[in-house]
Amino acid sequence: MLSSILKKESCAACRFCCAFRRQSLWEVPIFTKENKEAIEKNSSLDASVLIPVSDGLFGDVKGDFADFLSDYFRYELFDSYQTEDPEEEAPCPYLDSKTGCVLNEDEKPWDCKIWPLRVMRKEDGEIVVALTPTCPSVNQLDMETIKEFVNDEFKEKLLSYAKEHPFLVKEYREDFPIL
Ligand code: SF4
Ligand code: SF4
Repeated sequence: MLSSILKKESCAACRFCCAFRRQSLWEVPIFTKENKEAIEKNSSLDASVLIPVSDGLFGDVKGDFADFLSDYFRYELFDSYQTEDPEEEAPCPYLDSKTGCVLNEDEKPWDCKIWPLRVMRKEDGEIVVALTPTCPSVNQLDMETIKEFVNDEFKEKLLSYAKEHPFLVKEYREDFPIL
């Protein structure tokens, strides 16, 4: 989404946002049913890594909420870590170490399309667009420039998509600057 202000070469050398430390597992992207169906149609991709978000997270979920959750999927990285080092990163199963993300537009989750932006819910319920503070490239840019760019180009679209998919809205974290 910020491709016009993020350099492709910087991302190719970094790939930080496609591998996760244990404490960053809350950032693992959520796939919609549509993303999963598109992945299933692509014979070069493995859709079996995608499991319902409810698996192992919420215990026994029933009723309307269970129906709602059944539209969302994630992958499990918990068993991918080889050491006890909290800095160890486990790569996304859709990351190719040479070419980057292997997913096409309709297969790629919204979380990844909008990175390093995040739509977040504050404690008082307000939904805001925020910036992930850990992207090294974006951190070198002037905050006012990013704010202006995002507000002009994307903010309304992001908030409107978040309204349709409230499950994709993440809980607000203090160190994320609000745009
Ligand atoms: S963290 Fe930032 S610089 Fe690194 S790959 Fe992701 S978007 Fe690119
Ligand atoms: S789906 Fe693609 S962009 Fe998203 S974390 Fe995985 S490799 Fe990165």
